[in-house]
Amino acid sequence: MSNEIFIAILMALVVITYAGLAIAAYIRMRGTRLVTCPESKQTAAVTVDAAHSALSGVFHPSDIQISACSRWPARPECDQACAREIARAPKRTTTFQMMAQWYAGKPCGICGRDMPPLSHFGPEAGLMSVTSPEVVTVAWTDVPPQQLPKMLPTHLPVCSSCHLMTWLRHEHPDLVVDRHRTAVESEDSGTIVH
Ligand SMILES: [Zn+2]
Repeated sequence: MSNEIFIAILMALVVITYAGLAIAAYIRMRGTRLVTCPESKQTAAVTVDAAHSALSGVFHPSDIQISACSRWPARPECDQACAREIARAPKRTTTFQMMAQWYAGKPCGICGRDMPPLSHFGPEAGLMSVTSPEVVTVAWTDVPPQQLPKMLPTHLPVCSSCHLMTWLRHEHPDLVVDRHRTAVESEDSGTIVH
């Protein structure tokens, strides 16, 4: 192998390594996060400039810049002190990770089955209010992230299947056939429907 080819392969490996580090930093920093605002002591939903973190994280620890915050523009003078909390625990502060931990080990509030692990790709799990007289569920991803910490104590986890059925019953009752109720009503009227 000539020296030129060896150097070209070496440079390609270095570029691939740095590209891998940048992509890993980008994936680690993307998404919405929940932090405690150091100034107001309130929960805030923030988004990190993942592209900046990816590029700056190639040669140094990622520089974290907040690109959006649920408390802006009410606090334009924000010094982004919450970035330190994110730097200490980049994974734990993501909304997805927080919700994955909350759902883990709990039974579905409707069917009673154990909640499956939260997935980025599957149908969304739901939340059901324990104070509402109606059985109404909402996908956790439809709730503004900064409202989740206040909602969770008054809501039960609901699996994606039960959430979908509840949503269909609520939004499209004509498309849902309640087999149990149909059989009972039909027996009462003299005909049995299966
Ligand atoms: Zn269920």
